[in-house]
This record gives sequence, structure tokens and C-alpha cells, in this order.
Amino acid sequence: MNTKEIAKALRRNISGIVIWEKILCYNLVLLITPCYFIFEMSVVRPTIVAKYNMGALKHTLHMICSTFCFLNVVGNMIYSIVIDTKVKITVESNSYCKICKIRRPEKAWHCKTCNVCILKRDHHCFFFSRCIGLRNQRYYVLYLGYVFISMIYSLYYNYYYVVTKFEEDDMVLSAYRVINPFLRYLIPEPMGIKDLYMFFLFLNTGLVIWSGGLFYFHMMNVLNGLTAHEFKKDFSVDWEMKKNNFLSVFGVKWYWAVIMPFAESPLPQDVDMKCQ
Ligand SMILES: [Zn+2]
Ligand SMILES: [Zn+2]
Repeated sequence: MNTKEIAKALRRNISGIVIWEKILCYNLVLLITPCYFIFEMSVVRPTIVAKYNMGALKHTLHMICSTFCFLNVVGNMIYSIVIDTKVKITVESNSYCKICKIRRPEKAWHCKTCNVCILKRDHHCFFFSRCIGLRNQRYYVLYLGYVFISMIYSLYYNYYYVVTKFEEDDMVLSAYRVINPFLRYLIPEPMGIKDLYMFFLFLNTGLVIWSGGLFYFHMMNVLNGLTAHEFKKDFSVDWEMKKNNFLSVFGVKWYWAVIMPFAESPLPQDVDMKCQ
């Protein structure tokens, strides 16, 4: 195989990855997240309302909270995907990209998958099929934060929902069977639809841990002014520095950005440029 053929095969391989990424990404946006919300709202919620005699006030409050979480998950996910954070103009700098043929600012790196240089590149997100950098990092971090809150919230709901499917000690036996499928040979009752409910409860718990861990990791990087590959454990208490790092990601109107993905919250350097 000569170098040209290797380069061609690599290109084919990369575009293959991109296609799979795109399929996963559109499924996440258009299918999995809305279906999860619809299931929680149309199957889990009515069962719990009927079983536990939830009053109108409590019910309305849960409706508002869950819709708020859903809109923030979807909103931040869409903004993370659609906001372009590539280097658009060449600047005075010693960092040069041979592929894009531009001089790029500090912390801008070339992404082999996106095939462009990304401003303050953090990492390439496989699920969003998009690089996370200067202009979409806030939405990405908020997405993780809201997924974490939503997963804790839905775990609470789903636990009570799954309880309605079991009688007495069945739930513990089912949990054993799902953790270790070999136990099904020792436990007389065969695996059934109830075990599927239990499996999803475990999946929900896994998503709490996964999203919580990622949110913590990325939030620490935001506060320490680092990108994902520069990560180091920093427990310093320079609050002024942490505040400035926080504003450089979430913008000067961060208090709106954290509750509404579509709110305007310009980055400090954009505000400075406007003032000049
Ligand atoms: Zn480049
Ligand atoms: Zn990328």
C-alpha cells in the first residue's frame, strides 16, 4: 500500500466515523431525548399521580420543573451542536496550522474529525459530532448539568414507578437477576418484563453517575481556565481567578444563560471589542 492509498483509506475511515457520529447525534436530538421525556410524561407521571394521590399543586409543580429541565437539556444540546466555534480569520500569532493555512490564537487547535481549527478547543464530542470550544462550551457544560439534574429527578420518579410493578420482595430478587444474570438459574421465577424495568432503573442510575462525573470534570476545568487535555487537579481558592474564568465561558449575563439557553450573554472579550 503506497502513501496515497493509505491517505485515501484514512480519509474514508474518518468520513465513516463522521457519518456514524451524525446518525448518533440526530438520534439523540430528534429521537432519544424527546422519547425519554414523552415516556416520563405520558406513562410514568400518570401512574404515579394515580397511585400516590398527588395533589393538583404538587402535580403542577412537577410539570413545571420537568418541562424546565427538558427545555434546558434540549436547548443547550441544540446550541452546542449548531454554534460554530472554528477559527475564521488569521491573527498575529506564532501558532500556524498547515492544513487550514492560517495563524490561529493561543489554545486554538486543529480537529482531525471536523477538519478545521477550533477556538480554545476543549475536545471533540462524539455524541454531538462537534468540537467543543470557546463559543459553545457554556452550552455543553450546561447540557451536562441539566442532564445530571434531570437524571436525578427522573430516577426519583422512575423508582416509584418501578415499585408499582412489583409485589413484596420481588424487587430485590429482580435487582439480583439484573446485576448477575447467572442468578436466574438459582432464582425460580424466570426473567420477565419486570426485569426490563429494573434494568432501566439501573441504566438511569448509571446516567446519574456518568453525567455527574462529566459535569464535575468540565466545571472544574471552566473554573481553573483549562481545556480537557490540560486538566490538572487544582484546589486553589483564588476566587477572583475562578470568577473571571467562569465569566469567560458563561458570559457577562451568566445568570440568564444558566436558566435559558437562548439568552444573550456575551463573552467579556466581545464586550471589550464593542467598547473599543
Ligand atoms: Zn487547522
Ligand atoms: Zn472536532
